[in-house]
Amino acid sequence: MSKYVIGVDVGGTNIKLGLVDPSRNVIDRTNLVTQHFIRDRKKLIDAIAAQIAGIIEKNGLTRKDIQGIGIGLPGLINTPDGIVSLLPNIPGWRNVPLKKDLESRLKIRVFLENDVNLITLGEWKYGTGRGASNMICMTLGTGVGAGLVLDGHLYRGPGFAAGELGHMPLNEHGPSCGCGGFGCLEAYVGNRQLAAWGSKVVKKEMTLEALRALAQKGDAKALKFWKDAATHIGNGLVGPVNLLNPERIVIGGGVSHSHEFLFPTIREIIRKRAMPTQASMVKVVRAGLGNDAGILGAQVLVNEQK
Ligand SMILES: [Zn+2]
Repeated sequence: MSKYVIGVDVGGTNIKLGLVDPSRNVIDRTNLVTQHFIRDRKKLIDAIAAQIAGIIEKNGLTRKDIQGIGIGLPGLINTPDGIVSLLPNIPGWRNVPLKKDLESRLKIRVFLENDVNLITLGEWKYGTGRGASNMICMTLGTGVGAGLVLDGHLYRGPGFAAGELGHMPLNEHGPSCGCGGFGCLEAYVGNRQLAAWGSKVVKKEMTLEALRALAQKGDAKALKFWKDAATHIGNGLVGPVNLLNPERIVIGGGVSHSHEFLFPTIREIIRKRAMPTQASMVKVVRAGLGNDAGILGAQVLVNEQK
């Protein structure tokens, strides 16, 4: 008998939960702001457990109706052992046995995964990645990340660190990057960097939404800015396309809202610069599940477990 799954997205500022019914619909959502106690690990784990218990009760379910809980976290996650190896942006999270801790409290099976990998699983099984055995799922936001599906399996790497597309070096003499390197893709097209760059181009402080609106009005400077940004993204993808020969590249995240100004150039750069076989086989598409990708990815993760 199929059951419900709870997807949890633990971010730097809030915890989002989604309840997925047996027909794969997200039927309820909750959001808890955690900014003020994010550094207190015990409080954060208590809050996750309370949110989960709360959504079960609110929907008139019991723990027996829940097949499992899938939790996405922003860092290095040892999925087989259920351990949070490291969350670089949340202090105090190193080698935390979160699976064991939550399972002993909730008496429900818990599975952990990197947040971008959960989005990748969601898009691969239910979104615009459907049917591809080899794909890159790129997320364009504050950070630039990716999940990799290779020969029909999510590829995590031995240290659970694979997929750092944002840290593909584009220019060894480029701007410094949060990772300690120089000229990484993220140092150009992370959303803070993009907004600063675009503001400089149009000579006015602007958000990315405002830069998009300006381009929609046909402003030549804004259009040039988006084309140059797309050129960087395209260039960052040429190496992975040549290396991995993916059939699909799924692009999501806030920056991808400006898809009409990004995708034509990204496709053109890949067509011109990648090697012919790889270039001819890859389709670049917009992510299809929006904010539900991680929650539906949790459903995939839980259902994959024996
Ligand atoms: Zn970097």
